[in-house]
Amino acid sequence: MDKKNIENLRKKLEKEKILIEEQLKNFAQKDKKNKDDWDTKYPEFNEGGFSSQQLEEEADEVEEYLNLLPIEHNLELKLKKINSAIERIKNNTFGKCLKCGGKINEKKIKLYPETEYCNKCQNKI
Ligand SMILES: [Zn+2]
Repeated sequence: MDKKNIENLRKKLEKEKILIEEQLKNFAQKDKKNKDDWDTKYPEFNEGGFSSQQLEEEADEVEEYLNLLPIEHNLELKLKKINSAIERIKNNTFGKCLKCGGKINEKKIKLYPETEYCNKCQNKI
């Protein structure tokens, strides 16, 4: 793949990275220790009052939190893949399978620049 194509894909990846980070920021916080890790904000509850209305609200918030967890997990995984693809562009290993070092199908990598494995290895995972 020529440099111009790779540069375009790098831009695409950077753009996607920003979009995902924007989405994550809506409901999660970046982990201070691990820059690729995000934590869904757990609802903060007032101590003391236990009116039934309050309990109901708290239950809703916990439910929302539980619904957001898998979304956060998916976005985080995608973000990690994007970051590692950007790294591979920097290291000149972009387009090579992480497992066998073989070339990844060019059509596929143009559509999904975050692809990590060639078809052969992908099928074995
Ligand atoms: Zn492979």
